[in-house]
Amino acid sequence: MSKYSHILGVKFNNVTHSEAVNILEGFLKEEKCHAVFTPNPEIVMAARADKEFMRILNNADLVVPDGIGVVIASKLTKEKLKERVAGYDLIQGLFSAVKNKDYTVYFFGGAPGVAEEAKAKMEQIHKGLKIIGVFDGYFDEEKEKLIFEDIKNKKPDILLVGLGAPKQEKWIYSHKNELPVKICVGVGGSFDGMSGKVKRAPEFFIKFGLEWFYRLLRQPSRFFRMIKLPLFLLAVLKEKLLKKGV
Ligand code: UDP
Repeated sequence: MSKYSHILGVKFNNVTHSEAVNILEGFLKEEKCHAVFTPNPEIVMAARADKEFMRILNNADLVVPDGIGVVIASKLTKEKLKERVAGYDLIQGLFSAVKNKDYTVYFFGGAPGVAEEAKAKMEQIHKGLKIIGVFDGYFDEEKEKLIFEDIKNKKPDILLVGLGAPKQEKWIYSHKNELPVKICVGVGGSFDGMSGKVKRAPEFFIKFGLEWFYRLLRQPSRFFRMIKLPLFLLAVLKEKLLKKGV
């Protein structure tokens, strides 16, 4: 089985959920900031249209497929992905792994108040988890300096950045070398999920790869974003046919 799967130019690590958690635990033992991204089909399509974004994704230390569409697409190539590794679940796995250790976490992103609520909920669920800082994701240049200073002073081991794509990936990339953290993850709307503001799909939808459908039912405004999913699969199919020389 190949180590990576290339989907429309984005290089994914071919790992299971628990392998990904193990890799993250390994990152915590190294003295450098590791960038971790979890692209879904919409993000892959955005990266195709934005060279800088594509370069940033492909320079990350771990890239896992958050979206059943990416896993389905990989089945059309010779580099089949083992499974979907949803960003939200990956973070929950990491919290479970570190909660009784000395590692610390910082939440940056989401609407004002959301990261605080997420912190309270996560500390309840993962007893022993040390979330040492929070900041919302709506900032101007001045506020950004404050956020940056706060992170630098608190030196969390794990920094979760939830600003939506590609803002979070670009922010992580441009600050990576100055951040005194070991892992920096782009978590999209995960703080909304952790706070309970946005409900996660019931187990049934997740099991059958229908989480996207549940999210569409709950937030019909996502329709125009999701329209990119069939376009994504068509682009993968087109690439496959071109490779075959059809
Ligand atoms: N967000 C933010 N700052 C911004 C724009 C967005 O903190 O300038 C947050 C927003 O509040 C939400 C998240 O980024 O929590 C984006 O969520 P979305 O569901 O769009 O991301 P996805 O999970 O689909 O990547």
